[in-house]
Amino acid sequence: MSVMPTRRAVRFAPDSLREIPTQTVDCDLLIVGGGNAGCFVAVEARRLAPSLRVVIMEKANIMRSGACSAGMDAINTYIPEGKTPEDLVRWSRAQVGGGPLREDLALSNAELLNESVDDLQRWGLPILRDEDGKIRYRGQWDISIHGEQLKPIMAERAVASGAVVYNRVAGTGLLMSGRRCAGAAGLGVRDGKFYVFRAKAVVISTGGAGTLYKSYTADSTDSGSQIWMCPYCVGSGYAMGLRRGAELTSLEQRWVATRTKDFCGPVDTISVGYKAPIVNCRGERVMSRYAHLGGDAAPRFIRANAPMEEWLAGRGPCYCDTRHMDEKTVRAMMEDYLNERPSFVLFLASRGQDVTREPIEIYGSDPYIVGGHTGGGYWVDMARMTTLEGVFAAGETAGGNPNKFVGGCCAEGKLAARGALAYMRGREFAPPDAEDIEREKARVYAPVLGRAQEGVRPVEMKERLQRLMDEYAGGVSQFYRTNEERLDYALRHVKMLQSQFRHLRAEDPHELMQANETMDRVDVAEAVVQHLKARKETRWPGWQTRSDYPERNDAEFDCFIESRRNPETGVVETFTRPYERIVPGDRYTA
Ligand SMILES: Cc1cc2nc3c(=O)[nH]c(=O)nc-3n(C[C@H](O)[C@H](O)[C@H](O)COP(=O)(O)OP(=O)(O)OC[C@H]3O[C@@H](n4cnc5c(N)ncnc54)[C@H](O)[C@@H]3O)c2cc1C
Repeated sequence: MSVMPTRRAVRFAPDSLREIPTQTVDCDLLIVGGGNAGCFVAVEARRLAPSLRVVIMEKANIMRSGACSAGMDAINTYIPEGKTPEDLVRWSRAQVGGGPLREDLALSNAELLNESVDDLQRWGLPILRDEDGKIRYRGQWDISIHGEQLKPIMAERAVASGAVVYNRVAGTGLLMSGRRCAGAAGLGVRDGKFYVFRAKAVVISTGGAGTLYKSYTADSTDSGSQIWMCPYCVGSGYAMGLRRGAELTSLEQRWVATRTKDFCGPVDTISVGYKAPIVNCRGERVMSRYAHLGGDAAPRFIRANAPMEEWLAGRGPCYCDTRHMDEKTVRAMMEDYLNERPSFVLFLASRGQDVTREPIEIYGSDPYIVGGHTGGGYWVDMARMTTLEGVFAAGETAGGNPNKFVGGCCAEGKLAARGALAYMRGREFAPPDAEDIEREKARVYAPVLGRAQEGVRPVEMKERLQRLMDEYAGGVSQFYRTNEERLDYALRHVKMLQSQFRHLRAEDPHELMQANETMDRVDVAEAVVQHLKARKETRWPGWQTRSDYPERNDAEFDCFIESRRNPETGVVETFTRPYERIVPGDRYTA
């Protein structure tokens, strides 16, 4: 997806906080982030409790927001006939090298998976079938769809359920009533208003955190850049909890994916969907080097890292070899891309590239924190409640349970809705503390208040952070490698950036949003670095590579790394939780 340069809005220069209007909205259940999971939370909550007042606070426009905004060509997990939810958990465990994995969460998601994907089909999502009418599987678990309309289909259902949607309002912070969460604050990114949503329970479904690291396509601010993730999912949901002392898990298990070079399109579309092998510049099949780990069926992190290892060894560039394809197959593949990454089709066309003669180049992405793919996110219980009372997480925000993708995020939306409903039962409304609201308003609007024109623009701080994370905390330019000294350096400089938040300045609501996004990114980056420091081994090369601890160390690290910001000291502290295996079977193979 592309990150375009700042769109200038109307100048916005209030003299005092009092000049900024506050709009208060009361509801029972507040959903922060109306993406894939958020839409399912709304539909399920209103299905089970039709009189419940459900509000969705959405930073973009719900009809085209989040990971699914540009469409999809596959649902990566759907349990085929003859397989069980336990089989899916075993596969998920093998994909993360045998864990750790929250098998309890994974199993409950898997049990609701097919039902949730079936909902999508009933709502109008075309799922491709073969001549016998059977669902067409692309790989072991993933099914082909015509998913260009996937997001509008979900969003229309959420709206039809009776949930009230506030588009263009970005969640900035949780609001508390003592120790219990009583709502969340938001910034109107177009109208500049401060929003106070008062609720009995809050579900955070703001997607993952992209743009913490520099993308290799980010040559300059003015040219914008291409990243794989939705650029507006910057980790605000994690930051909101982190600032309140919520426990986060597994942030060091970053998601790094092999993508089509320069246009960040999915590679599975070609390699799995059209059986195109990954080859290096000599034409050698890259995955044959990993035959002992399963070759083409090796765990995801091995497959993502393999082409980058080829580069390092002097055998790059790498490609998805499409030269065996006939015209009809290429057409079908392009159709798949039009369903998910239309810009990639234009990119190939603009170069006049005939993929039956010239293979498609691939490269690693910048690292992301995405609990729907890898494990990073909130530590949650079975009801999807975080360690903060009244705050739930669903989709990419809920950690410890990777490989959810679209279907798993739908299922988790339902589970979080059920969890929130059970929590609210018999609970009275508790208004957020007035001082808490004022503190949050002052924090959010500081970049536009009483400032001279001098100061740090959000984009400048963002770029500093991205370069810092890229070079010192294992970004793509470093082939994902880092060590203790580099991480200490990153931490010192992240702290420096935090101390410079007070210099951030913004001139309009859009830039104010960017200032808040940047503060969120920096806060999440601090936690990521602490997690990378804590795991003194290499468990998932590429996703998490420590040059100073190149081996896996089960004796000390066969466990979850957790973190919590200490409210007294402001320091992010790490600790561990044990890995509990529930689903029998071999850990490493499915
Ligand atoms: C490019 C791409 C391709 C993918 N392809 C596939 C595929 O083919 N098959 C598959 O199964 N899975 C695929 N996935 C994975 C899958 O799409 C995601 O795991 C899933 O959709 C995430 O759902 P979510 O609800 O957690 O997050 P999202 O759907 O990203 O929703 C997050 C929502 O929160 C909003 N938001 C963000 N910050 C704030 C804030 N501060 N306040 C309010 N709202 C906010 C966003 O605008 C967005 O609407 C893909 C992911 C990506 C990024």
